[in-house]
Amino acid sequence: MKLVIKNIGQILSGKIEDPIFEGDCLIAIDGKITEWGKEKDLDTEGADTLVDAHGVTLAPGLIDSHIHPVVGDYTPRQQQLHWIDSTLHGGVTTLISAGEVHMPGRPKDVVGLKAMAIAAQRWYENFRPSGVKVHAGAPVIEHGMEEHDFKEMADAGVKLLGEVGLGTVKDGKTARQMVEWARKYGIQSTIHTGGPSIPGSGLIDADMVLETGTDVVGHINGGHSALPDDQIICLCESCKAALEIVHNGNERAALLTLNTARELDKLDQVILGTDGPAGSGVQPLGIMRMVAMLSSLGNVPAEIAFCFANGNTARQRELDVGLIEQGKSADFVLMDQAQHAPGKNLLESVQLGNLPGVGMTIIDGVVRSERSRNTPPAQRLPEIIA
Ligand SMILES: [Zn+2]
Repeated sequence: MKLVIKNIGQILSGKIEDPIFEGDCLIAIDGKITEWGKEKDLDTEGADTLVDAHGVTLAPGLIDSHIHPVVGDYTPRQQQLHWIDSTLHGGVTTLISAGEVHMPGRPKDVVGLKAMAIAAQRWYENFRPSGVKVHAGAPVIEHGMEEHDFKEMADAGVKLLGEVGLGTVKDGKTARQMVEWARKYGIQSTIHTGGPSIPGSGLIDADMVLETGTDVVGHINGGHSALPDDQIICLCESCKAALEIVHNGNERAALLTLNTARELDKLDQVILGTDGPAGSGVQPLGIMRMVAMLSSLGNVPAEIAFCFANGNTARQRELDVGLIEQGKSADFVLMDQAQHAPGKNLLESVQLGNLPGVGMTIIDGVVRSERSRNTPPAQRLPEIIA
């Protein structure tokens, strides 16, 4: 199956070291990117799907590094259906679970939590809501887990741990041991950084984050309450892990993280999430809003801020999406400057704090949505020609 997208205005690459690529045309075969560049130099014959971008910007589909899914496209947390479909309309094509913690009656015994993790991994592997890739099956560690439990889960397909600290394990020594067992079997880990999120959860301070040594510093800007500034700065200085900034956190702490990471030349470690569904609800445009917020208030060129939302996350999370690169998944968002938004072009309008208008999303080379029902309307829209 051959996808040809022509008349692209600009290509954002997802690569923070080289964020804008030359070219007006991109080709994908069987759901993988094969080439891009000037249309006249490419073999555009024989397309099964032909999209005329009409001059809009193409970027790798956005990634939400921190969600709390439960089952299918339903969240019991706010009794909401189709929140993932709505998120697709915000340009997000990949979601990563930080724990299926809103499952009513979530099992906390070891056998039960393992069973749920494996089941959750399976039900999102077998069913992609609106085509969106949901990486789920992220167990929350509890006391009593042993090394063989992590091996069993890994053998069964579990690749993620939910946020350390949301279960009974709240001391760094036990958490570190379990995170190391997880890592040994190829399971990636994250941690709840900051104050309690809802009644029943607890404080995780910088010392605990450092002692535990997860692969991702989950919501470094709090979810909701942020750590004191000196602890956030310490985490930025000390961690080689991904520094995850979320929509449902403290925005001032988000900017502190961004500015500290920039001073330390660590912008490649910055990744974005929403932390929804949660008490703040779901945020279909949450990732776009973070890109615009960090770009405008943090003085980051918009093409760099988009990398926080696709390429950086893909690299930190070892996913085959999020970058314009041969062989990567053909997952894209096509967008343009919103109607009547200030700025000379899409990037300038985002850097002025405005959301772009999404005109199309594509996953695995297949068009999944056309004009977004959620973003402001774009000036120009891509069109399926054939
Ligand atoms: Zn959390």
